[in-house]
Amino acid sequence: MSASEFPKGDLLKGKRGLIMGVANKNSIAWAIARQLHAQGAELGFTYVGEALERRVRPLVESIGADLLVECDVTSDQSMDDTFRVIEDKWGGLDFLVHSIAFADKDALKGSFVENTSREAFRTAMDVSAFSFVDAANRASKLMQGGGSMITLTYLGSERVIPNYNVMGVAKAALEASTRYIARDLGPKGIRVNAISAGAIKTLSLGGISGARSLLSEGKAWAPMRENTDPVGVAGAALYLLSDLGKSCTGETHHVDAGFHIVGMPEDDAGAE
Ligand code: NAD
Repeated sequence: MSASEFPKGDLLKGKRGLIMGVANKNSIAWAIARQLHAQGAELGFTYVGEALERRVRPLVESIGADLLVECDVTSDQSMDDTFRVIEDKWGGLDFLVHSIAFADKDALKGSFVENTSREAFRTAMDVSAFSFVDAANRASKLMQGGGSMITLTYLGSERVIPNYNVMGVAKAALEASTRYIARDLGPKGIRVNAISAGAIKTLSLGGISGARSLLSEGKAWAPMRENTDPVGVAGAALYLLSDLGKSCTGETHHVDAGFHIVGMPEDDAGAE
């Protein structure tokens, strides 16, 4: 991905946003961050763990951002600290990007009904769905002049996808949460949407058993016969987070080369 693929402009000039979920240069949140930066936004970032800090800090510095906070979304203390830093440093916030998910690897393979323990269910829901409710609530308090928020989801919430299992259930909760949050924050001029991205090669995707076939089958079935380009996801994020997306809220927008519309593959759609 080259910087020239992210159109430059002033759509977010003077706007400040928090990006939660960059792990490395392949993260979807990083593609989104680069697009928002190219449109003039001032960005702050969260990361979790020392190992990831070593990857994230150079990226953040490469775009001249200086707000980088450690934040584990499962900890109230960590969330308190993060949003206190934002308030102290910026005094307000215009947008939020939530690009966070986690489930126990053992639950992301084989039988959903057999492999989903209480603990695996709780963890997936906490990290991948509740964290957006919590972050949205905290961010909204800083969005006194209105704002916009997005989260990232996947088709496994609507349809059965092999091995996606408990994460599909968590994504369904995340999408429903998006609608309820949109209802609550609409009167405050805050828009809340989800982007349902097609499979993209990232650290998280690697945690799902058979991830390679999510990519190869995804490409073979998709009407566009291509994998989802993070640049397209970043473009959708720009639309939803800027005034281009005016009047759009509570929506789950698919950016997946059309994969979600297909009920049965064409005869020539053999996976590689
Ligand atoms: P990624 O691994 O780069 O990003 C996932 C992020 O979640 C990481 O930055 C990780 O640190 C963070 N995270 C996990 N547990 C956390 C915790 N307790 N506290 C704070 N942060 C935590 O992978 P990605 O593919 O860019 O994933 C980003 C989002 O996009 C996820 O919600 C994922 O489900 C979604 N998504 C991914 C794909 C895909 O194919 N890669 C497709 C659709 C949606």
